[in-house]
Amino acid sequence: SIAPLAQVVGADECVPLRAGDSARYANLDYAASAPALTAVAQTVQASLAQYASVHRGAGHLSQVTTRRYEEARETVRAFVRGRVDDAVVFTRGTTDAINLAAHVTCGDVVVLDIEHHANLLPWCAPDRTGSSRVRVVPACATIEDTLAALDAELASAPAALLAVTAASNVTGEVLPIGRLASIAHRHGARILVDAAQLVAHRRVSMVSHGIDYLVFSGHKLYAPFGAGVLIGRADWLDAAPPYLAGGGASASVDFGITGADAAVEWHRGPARHEAGSPNVLGAISIAAACTALADIGFDSIGLHEEALRARLDDGLAAIDGVTALRIFDDSTDRVGIAGFDVAGHAPRAVAEYLSSDAGVGVRDGKFCAHPLLKRLGHPDGAVRASFGLGTGSDDIDRLTDALTRLTTRARTS
Ligand code: PMP
Repeated sequence: SIAPLAQVVGADECVPLRAGDSARYANLDYAASAPALTAVAQTVQASLAQYASVHRGAGHLSQVTTRRYEEARETVRAFVRGRVDDAVVFTRGTTDAINLAAHVTCGDVVVLDIEHHANLLPWCAPDRTGSSRVRVVPACATIEDTLAALDAELASAPAALLAVTAASNVTGEVLPIGRLASIAHRHGARILVDAAQLVAHRRVSMVSHGIDYLVFSGHKLYAPFGAGVLIGRADWLDAAPPYLAGGGASASVDFGITGADAAVEWHRGPARHEAGSPNVLGAISIAAACTALADIGFDSIGLHEEALRARLDDGLAAIDGVTALRIFDDSTDRVGIAGFDVAGHAPRAVAEYLSSDAGVGVRDGKFCAHPLLKRLGHPDGAVRASFGLGTGSDDIDRLTDALTRLTTRARTS
């Protein structure tokens, strides 16, 4: 059997079952939000006990907090191998980070139709000069053909940016981000990588993959909700007006004598887009998660997740009526996400059965990726199981055993 690789909070949580007894909660919904690592929770607890305002305070605790907040940027930069001059902007999450990227980007943006809505909808509005901009490329049956289609699209007309997911939140399939970056750069475009589903599972190197912008969320990286990151080239960020107007973003403000037209000088650097009192605990918790994952090491993480992945794939393949969702015929690398369909059972009914009869938490629905679910032939949704460092083989077995019971019961009744 496979034991969890790291301690997460809430691992011993018990949930009531329909039969009247209870079971340890088997959390197979890491792709939505991963439970905090115990090490991260401890850092947050310690920081809560000792924090004060950032940037504007002269007091000792303000200075300590400011230092921790700024150090968090450097920890994140090192974790994803960012360039020294990349801006590390703390945001509310991936959605917020991509909206910020859309705010600073001028020109056309090319996306695939397999994206999470967070990497589709922000690009649908015109850029700040008023030009309309999104060009959606349908993914092909293979990754190779999809790369060729993107290459052709970028060759057909200039684009400022290629915005792609690093790993599908529906199927877990990993895209070749280094090759995507080369294609974008060959045509004079930059690349933004939505790494929400990748950073907790694979070593990312912005430098060696050639990533211009990387975005991700803390709550999928074993840190609490409410914080995320946009890291990347500073020039577009410094050229755009602040994402939010307010204190912290402004270097000087003067209303003059006559009234309302404020003369404002905005900061350059990350502060420009971080108006208001920042989510210091969020930033510190992301940094703590980066440190904890680096300590565990991506070699160990990879081995652990590969073993669980094989067990889940084999378990699902052995159940009559269960079909795994796949975008590409030639994908070989997948993170710990399995989207699947159970013939004859609505996704919601499957998820409810797993919860109330087996204490297994999965997700059902369209996963904020409606165009993808449609092209996969499941416009009404599917079921998704996903796992990570706090998962053991027992959790996987409970899922596949319960699905076997559900499908067998349906056939014999
Ligand atoms: N992109 C992907 C690939 C995701 O899986 C998610 C979360 N499901 C998001 C973006 C949005 O992340 P958040 O909700 O943290 O903003």
